Amino acid sequence: MGLLDKLKSLLFGKEAVSEGKQDAKPGAKPADEAIVEKPAEQPVAAKPAEDKVEQVEQKHIIQKPKEEKPVADKITVGHVHMSGCTGCLVSLADNYEGLLTILDKYADLVYCLTLADVRHIPEMDVALVEGSVCINDECSMEEILETRERAKIVVALGGCACYGNTTRFCRGGQQNQPQHEGFVPIGDLIKVDVYIPACAPTPQQIRNVCLMAYLLLKGNDEQKALATAYLTPLMNLAAAGTEACGCDLMTEVINQGLCMGCGSCAAACTVRAITMQYGKPQVERDLCIKCGACYAQCPRSFFSFDVCGQYESITELIGEVMKP
Ligand code: SF4
Ligand code: SF4
Repeated sequence: MGLLDKLKSLLFGKEAVSEGKQDAKPGAKPADEAIVEKPAEQPVAAKPAEDKVEQVEQKHIIQKPKEEKPVADKITVGHVHMSGCTGCLVSLADNYEGLLTILDKYADLVYCLTLADVRHIPEMDVALVEGSVCINDECSMEEILETRERAKIVVALGGCACYGNTTRFCRGGQQNQPQHEGFVPIGDLIKVDVYIPACAPTPQQIRNVCLMAYLLLKGNDEQKALATAYLTPLMNLAAAGTEACGCDLMTEVINQGLCMGCGSCAAACTVRAITMQYGKPQVERDLCIKCGACYAQCPRSFFSFDVCGQYESITELIGEVMKP
C-alpha cells in the first residue's frame, strides 16, 4: 500500500481506497501509483540489442562515401547590364558547351538579369560589366558603384563599357537616345581592372578572361603566372583610360609595320570611318567617334610580345581546362 493509501485508510477507512481505484479512467494511471509506485523497469537484456542496432547504424554512416562538393572551388561571376545592346551577353552565350563547362567546373553565375533570378548585386569575384552608364539615371549610377564595392575584379565587357562605343552618339551634339543625355564608359566612374574591348568581343575572348580569372584566383603558381601574362595587356588597356581613337590603330599597328591588311578594323568601325585602300586601312578622323573598336578588333594590336612568347603554353592551358 502506498503512502497516500495509508493516509486515506487512516482518514476514511479501507473502502475509500479501493473505491478511488475503481473510479480511475481506463488507461489512466492512478494518482497514488504515479507518485509512489515506480513503473516496472525494462528488462536489462533488451539494452545490448539496441546498442547493437546503434553501432550498425553508426558503422553504416561512417562507411557512406563523403559527398563531393563540385562547387567548392568555383569563383563567383556576375554579369551587370548597363546601357548597351546585349550583344556582349549574346557573345558570352555563344560559347555554347564551353559556357556550360565553365559553369559546371569553374564559375557560378551569381548575378545576371537575363539568366539568373537575383535582384540585388551580390558579393562576387568577377563582375563582367556590359554597356556604358547613363549619368542621368540614379539606378544606373548606384548599380555601378555597388558593383565596384562588391566585386574583386571588375571587367569592362565590350566597347561601350570600355570607351562608350556607339553610346557616344549621345554626346558631342549628336542625336540623343530617348530622354538620356549623357552616357559614359564605366572607367569614368569607377576603377576598372580589365578591359575586353570590341563590339562585341569574341565568345572565345570572354571565355578566356573568365578562365584566366579563375586560374588567377584558384590556380597553382604556374597557372597564376600564365593567367597574369594573358590578362596583363587587358589590364594595361584598362589603365590607359577611356579614350580611344582610330589614331591608336595608325600609330601602334600600321606605322609599326604590323598591319597585314585583314580589314577587321574597317569591318568593326560602326561609323564607316575606315576604308581599305591599297590593302591598308585609312582612317577618316573627322568621322571617328573614338570608340576603340577598330584597335580592339585588330589581331595585331594589344597583345604584347610578352604574351606572344607564352602563346603556346596559354593555349595548352586553355585546352586542358576546357576538356569536358
Ligand atoms: S576609326 Fe571607327 S572603329 Fe576606330 S575608333 Fe574611330 S569610330 Fe571607332
Ligand atoms: S585589323 Fe589590324 S591588321 Fe587588320 S587591316 Fe586593320 S590594322 Fe591591319
